[in-house]
Amino acid sequence: KLEQLRKLTSADSVSADGFQVELVANIGSPEDAAAAKNNGAEGIGLFRTEFLYMGRDTLPSEEEQFQAYRKVVKAFGPDAPIIIRTMDIGGDKELPILQLPQEDNPFLGYRAIRICLDRPELFKTQLRAILRASAFGNVKIMFPMIAALSEWRAAKAVLDQCKEELQRERIAFNPELEVGIMIEVPAAAMLADRFAKEVDFFSIGTNDLTQYTLAADRMNEKLAHLNDPLQPAVLYLIEKVIRAAQKAGKWTGMCGEMAGSPHAVPILLGLGLKEFSMSGGSIFQTRALISTLSQSAMAELASKALELEGPDEIRSFVEAQVPEIL
Ligand code: PEP
Ligand code: MG
Repeated sequence: KLEQLRKLTSADSVSADGFQVELVANIGSPEDAAAAKNNGAEGIGLFRTEFLYMGRDTLPSEEEQFQAYRKVVKAFGPDAPIIIRTMDIGGDKELPILQLPQEDNPFLGYRAIRICLDRPELFKTQLRAILRASAFGNVKIMFPMIAALSEWRAAKAVLDQCKEELQRERIAFNPELEVGIMIEVPAAAMLADRFAKEVDFFSIGTNDLTQYTLAADRMNEKLAHLNDPLQPAVLYLIEKVIRAAQKAGKWTGMCGEMAGSPHAVPILLGLGLKEFSMSGGSIFQTRALISTLSQSAMAELASKALELEGPDEIRSFVEAQVPEIL
């Protein structure tokens, strides 16, 4: 069976009725890129760059980060999409060198883009490194934990500043690189229409979006029934985000665990999700599954699933309609 799946490595990711999607991987270090490619990934949908900063006593320099990002680009070649997320420290990920204050609610605290906007020198070092890597391939940048339009605009302004600097220094980068945001805070999902006018793409982070929407800590096993991306409230937000992007002519991807979950894939395909980013091990089977599904039939399935009461009902319904997932 694995051999059969392997044959699909270079195959297109396309539904039975011709709806084209992209299957890409989530990675945490540049060394993971080659394995992701072997697992059939068409590119990288989420490079969790915070791991470059963790477990050490000094901050990574611009040059060191540039090398790391270029290594990922090189593993996939110049055309493959490589989405680099700016660092998402805080929450469950600690970084002693930054001497972050102890917080009662770290998931609701000083983290990710909130730190970056407060420490522009730290942010600029990373943005310059990513921009330099963009000269070598199809690099895209995304900002995590965006909650307000002002944060997106401020982050974009720092990026523009870095572009001007590099231009003055005659250092190469791709001036057209796409810039997007993660949708993982409910506030951003609710304002998706406004964000869609300004960003190049959305990538839905269902791990955080689910915990914030249901007010259920993603690490708390007692809350697993709430912390489930098939909760109708989460599906409602996902649909809203995809529709907002479509209306503005932008595309939506997903880099939360949900994107590789067999029960969720038929629904996401039906909602019109264009990019599915997951851990490398799920790519072959997701590609095989999508190739058996009709996108237009899944659109109907999705609209019915969204009306159901909860995750259990939704799972049973999807299993009954799509026996291939079992
Ligand atoms: C998410 O929140 O869904 C996500 C992909 O980011 P992380 O898991 O790194 O928080
Ligand atoms: Mg997240």
